[in-house]
Amino acid sequence: MNAPLLQVDDVSRRFGGLAAVSNVSFEVGRGEIVGLIGPNGAGKSTLFNLIAGALPPSSGRILFEGEDVTALAAPDRCRRGIGRTFQVVKSFDSMSVLDNVVVGALVRHPHAAAARRKAAEVLDFAGLAPRAASPAGDLTPPEKRRLEVARALATEPKLLLLDEVMTGLTPAEAQKGVELVRKVRETGVTVLMVEHVMEIVMPLVDRAFVLHLGRELAHGKPADVAADPGVISAYLGD
Ligand code: ADP
Ligand code: MG
Repeated sequence: MNAPLLQVDDVSRRFGGLAAVSNVSFEVGRGEIVGLIGPNGAGKSTLFNLIAGALPPSSGRILFEGEDVTALAAPDRCRRGIGRTFQVVKSFDSMSVLDNVVVGALVRHPHAAAARRKAAEVLDFAGLAPRAASPAGDLTPPEKRRLEVARALATEPKLLLLDEVMTGLTPAEAQKGVELVRKVRETGVTVLMVEHVMEIVMPLVDRAFVLHLGRELAHGKPADVAADPGVISAYLGD
């Protein structure tokens, strides 16, 4: 299969009179880490939800492994291999950390014992094994971010969509997050990460796609994008 893993083809999304995403097209190849960046309100989360299937586009198509998945609901896209985190952490606070990840693992492992084994393996990978039995509500904010990533990984995605998983972390915590994303890619998973803070994403990504007011502002290698005058002024105006 030679098609790119993900193709966003001329996608737009309106909310009433507001054009949140306008005629956006880009591709993500297998094994890449691509950053989707832009100031607040740029349309990043909307585009992310269009890719994950949480929102239908007003126009345009989403292709995954060369197939049009635009009409598929989010759970069906997840089964195809599109895994996601939520910007607002949606852990079940009274459930254990392990059980939160079992929820993701059940997508591929309908039997509880197998789902628990998979969840334990993912927790270990994400560095959360020592917290497995804690209620998710007891986790620190950076641990909750890690749990979000673990739950998405437990669905065994080909494409992992990360929405602002570094936001609110200290530089040291963000560095650990960066290491986790690199480790995820080493397992063969492709990553599309939405981040508002450019300093975190740029050293990590192979390519960056910049959204501003719902449109493509720049697209390319991180160093070129960071030096783009349009990008600099969009961020200064933020
Ligand atoms: P970002 O994630 O880049 O900060 P969003 O995609 O959340 O941007 O928002 C883009 C624009 O769309 C903003 O102006 C926001 O207020 C608007 N928007 C997002 N979601 C909705 C919604 N469900 N209903 C109405 N407007 C929305
Ligand atoms: Mg957002």
